[in-house]
Order: sequence, then C-alpha cells, then structure tokens
Amino acid sequence: MKCRFCGKKAYIKLHHPKMYLCREHFMEYFERKVKRTIEKYRLLGKGERILVAVSGGKDSAVVSYVLKKLGYDIECLHINLGIGEYSAKSEEYTKKQSEMINSKLHIVRIKELLGAGIGELKTSRPTCSYCGITKRYIFNKFAHDNSFDVIVTGHNLDDEASFIFSNIMNWNTQYLAKQGPLLPGEGKFVKKVKPLYEVTEREVVAYALAVGIDYMLEECPYSRGATTLSYKEILNQMEEKRPGTKMNFVKGYLRKRYLFEQEVEKRELKECEVCGMPSSGEICSFCRVWRLKKPVELEVKEVKR
Ligand code: SF4
Ligand code: ZN
Ligand code: ZN
Repeated sequence: MKCRFCGKKAYIKLHHPKMYLCREHFMEYFERKVKRTIEKYRLLGKGERILVAVSGGKDSAVVSYVLKKLGYDIECLHINLGIGEYSAKSEEYTKKQSEMINSKLHIVRIKELLGAGIGELKTSRPTCSYCGITKRYIFNKFAHDNSFDVIVTGHNLDDEASFIFSNIMNWNTQYLAKQGPLLPGEGKFVKKVKPLYEVTEREVVAYALAVGIDYMLEECPYSRGATTLSYKEILNQMEEKRPGTKMNFVKGYLRKRYLFEQEVEKRELKECEVCGMPSSGEICSFCRVWRLKKPVELEVKEVKR
C-alpha cells in the first residue's frame, strides 16, 4: 500500500481516520496531533517551566521527544522505585532517552530517600496503592519545591479510555470528576497535563519505532493481572469493530464530566502536619504510609528561577 500524500511505501495503516502513511508523513501527522492537543486544551503556557515524568517506557519517552521537537524546553524526572532489576533497567532507559534528546534528567531513588523500595515496606496497603501515593506525591513535591509550573505525563488515549471505563464500571465518581487532559494546579498542587491524550497506544509505539527510541518493554513485576489490562482488551475489541470508539468514548466523557463534578463535594484541604503539603487529614497519606517524622528533601540545589 502507498502513502496517501506522497505515494511512497506505506509505514502504517491508520484506522481512524482510515489512511496509509509513509514513515515521514506518519511522524508529521503524529506531531501535528500532539501540537493540536496542546493548543486545543491550552496545556502549556508561554515561558512555563516544564517537568516531564519519565519511566523508561514508550509513552514518557515519546512525549519528551515530541515536546523537544516542538521547541519546548523541558527537564525530566525519573523515580527509581527500588524494585530490583526492573528499576535498575528503567533508570538506564531514562538516561539513554534523555541523552538522545539532550534534556536534563533528575533522578529520585526511593531506597535512598525513604530507606526501602516499593514492595519492601511493611504496610497493610496493597503495593500498587502505596506506590501510586508515593509517585504522585514525589512528582508533585519535586515540581513544587523546584518551581516547575507544570508536570507532563505520557498518558495516551488507551490509558485514558480504560481508566474512565474501569471507574464507570465501579462508579468511582470521585475519580470521574477530575480526569482529563489538564488538571489545573491549586495551591501546592502543580498543574498536570497529558499531551498524548488523543493518540492511541498503537500510534505511540509506531512513532517510537519510526524515530528510533529505545524503550523498556518489561512490565513491573507487581502489575501482573492488573484489571486495567482487561479493560484495554475489551476497548481494543470494540475499536476493531468500530474504529473511533475510544476517541468518541473519551470525548463523550469530557462533555459529561460536569455531571460527576456536581456529585462530588469539595473537601477542604488542610496542611499536613509533617510536610506542609495539602492533605485531607492531619497527616497526608504519603507521610502516613512512610511513617515520616520530617518532610522529604527534594529541592535541587542548583535549580534557580
Ligand atoms: Fe507501582 Fe509497579 Fe504497581 Fe505500577 S505496577 S503502581 S509501578 S508497583
Ligand atoms: Zn508520505
Ligand atoms: Zn505529609
């Protein structure tokens, strides 16, 4: 099959909109789509200091690469979770990826910071639950303490669709009230944005291959049997029968999100007694899980505004 624009040999067949594209025209298409997402949802403002959360996987590597290509000045943050070989490898990939795009990489190692890795802490919470709390907290506090204006994550359309799907299946209205390509900052919460919001996982993989990004394929050992994977499979089957299903589902959700917002009462946040970050209780869940007596130090000394 031939590229719709130049007649060269096709690199990919897109299903929605249906067309064949060569490698160059696919890259152009992908980058334009990300640029349009940034403009449409006003994700990144002029002069904002941007921190990209990187894991070593394809999504965060691709979002950093495209932002650089679109002319944004970015810095990256990787959290080494202290999960044996898996974390060591992830860190190596983030180093290679940052070198490739010549961006500054910060690394926070959980074991060095908190004395134990994910999976080693004695707590009644499931591993993924306190891992999620830890990652969210560190990304936010690092961004806040080092004067970043925005945190970029690599979530793609498939991630979003499956997240919304699973939260509808469980009627988690709290979560459904605050999803989307942009979560505005508030107080000590730094703004979070998802420039890959409208590109599919398949497109992200194809783009990574097209530009030669080497990324981590191994899954975290704790992710086995994650239910989001089965939601992704169901959505993929539906997408195959009716291309555009995921996009319509996510766009429909954005139109109806206000219904969930109405449902959720706004809770007043206090300041955590240990670290001073926003918290619904006396002590925030991060300081509680890690039984901290003083705040973690995340300020990078040489970073100045
Ligand atoms: Fe953390 Fe691994 Fe669970 Fe993901 S799968 S939340 S990285 S422990
Ligand atoms: Zn072409
Ligand atoms: Zn705290």
